[in-house]
Amino acid sequence: VTFTVADIRKTFLDFFASKGHTVVPSSSLVPGNDPTLMFTNSGMVQFKDVFLGTDKRPYVRAASVQACLRAGGKHNDLENVGYTARHHTFFEMLGNWSFGDYFKRESLQWAWELLTEVYKLPADKLWATVYIDDDEAYDIWTKEIGLPPERVVRIGDNKGAKYASDNFWMMADTGPCGPCSEIFYDHGPEIAGGPPGSPEQDGDRYIEIWNNVFMQFDMQPDGSVKPLPAPCVDTGMGLERLAAILQHVHSNYEIDIFDALIKAAARETGEQDLGNKSLRVIADHIRATAFLVSDGVNPSNEGRGYVQRRIIRRAIRHGYKLGKKTPFFHKLVADLVKLMGDAYPKLKTDEQRITSVLKAEEERFFETLEIGMQILDTALADGTQVLPGEVAFKLHDTYGFPLDLSADVCRERGVGIDEVGFGAAMDKQRAQARAAGKFKMDRALEYTGSGNTFTGYEHLEETAKIV
Ligand code: ATP
Ligand code: MG
Ligand code: MG
Ligand code: MG
Repeated sequence: VTFTVADIRKTFLDFFASKGHTVVPSSSLVPGNDPTLMFTNSGMVQFKDVFLGTDKRPYVRAASVQACLRAGGKHNDLENVGYTARHHTFFEMLGNWSFGDYFKRESLQWAWELLTEVYKLPADKLWATVYIDDDEAYDIWTKEIGLPPERVVRIGDNKGAKYASDNFWMMADTGPCGPCSEIFYDHGPEIAGGPPGSPEQDGDRYIEIWNNVFMQFDMQPDGSVKPLPAPCVDTGMGLERLAAILQHVHSNYEIDIFDALIKAAARETGEQDLGNKSLRVIADHIRATAFLVSDGVNPSNEGRGYVQRRIIRRAIRHGYKLGKKTPFFHKLVADLVKLMGDAYPKLKTDEQRITSVLKAEEERFFETLEIGMQILDTALADGTQVLPGEVAFKLHDTYGFPLDLSADVCRERGVGIDEVGFGAAMDKQRAQARAAGKFKMDRALEYTGSGNTFTGYEHLEETAKIV
């Protein structure tokens, strides 16, 4: 049997429904009423208040397939797209939850049952990690489920700070969090990368597919933790990563849905090589940007809208790189709706609106893209190792090149980018504008750092205190 993504979604929900879970629809990419979070980055976001005990549901077990976005803010994977086999900006997360009902045992046993007996993954290719001192989870894996101890890895605080560990999951800098146990699949020795916990883990051989989080705490702004009213379970499995395994391919970008989107991107750009990285970026970004428009996020110069603009413009630049000099990106909306409209009916309803929003942004950016690229090419022509901040700022300010778009080009060419100089140029422009009494400024210029403390792209996208 080959599982399509549609089969995988249905199988997941049916399995958890059979275990007493209420199936809940995907929520918006824009978290409802939550100023701490830029986008819905996991399935638990719509249940945040249930974990905290301030909201109640008529059920204690739930399951969903949630549309997620990891671009901007915490859990930002924008820079990984095109570089790893497993990261998207937009992806679908299969999840199941216990709100003060079952805990570690059922969670891990059901995960194992679903993977090995229903999806029929080979058990000898699966690994698990647990939080360093979580003996309970370790024993469930080794003694009850029977995973050999060589394939169960304890992972601790690997980044110095108390809870900064891959096995301590946090939705954001504050809010529900807890130790977790992750399940990995070994794609085989042909692919570079080491097992979980090893120094080579960052490769794509051992790919994390499912995270079982044992929600126990509410992280406070000062970094201390308060216990939740009841221990809960929050799991998340990447649909595309599971599909890659079940469809016998290595990369997420080779699964059914991406294969079709990449062919559509090839059709629109004229690119022949279907393995071209830019096609992958375009296929990823059409999903992210179309779903964002559908959920009400239009390109703009601040906050969520600025992330949207950055993603669209990145996709357009990749099309341009493939030789496309006129709007093309919006034409992929129809393909996307065919592929995902049944699972997300709102996409169908919104098709016209999505197409016209993307088209307008394309038309706008194509006016300055060519000349901006010429400036960039000239600046990088004479063997320059670092793109000067002044140039990056001019591109941003006059030609509508978000900083991360210039950085993307520099990265492809193995050149650095002077972000500190960029911040300084922005500060200078602000000061001049102030002096000239021009108070009405582009909100994208609301850069909050000083020239020598530029701390990344986040400042460019912040409105409220969103991470
Ligand atoms: P990774 O370490 O590979 O970046 P993660 O630990 O950040 O993944 P979690 O926050 O644990 O991921 O999310 C739960 C699951 O969602 C992951 O196990 C993975 O299957 C999936 N997932 C996470 N990020 C992405 C992404 N950017 N694209 C596709 N799937 C993802
Ligand atoms: Mg990650
Ligand atoms: Mg991880
Ligand atoms: Mg994880």
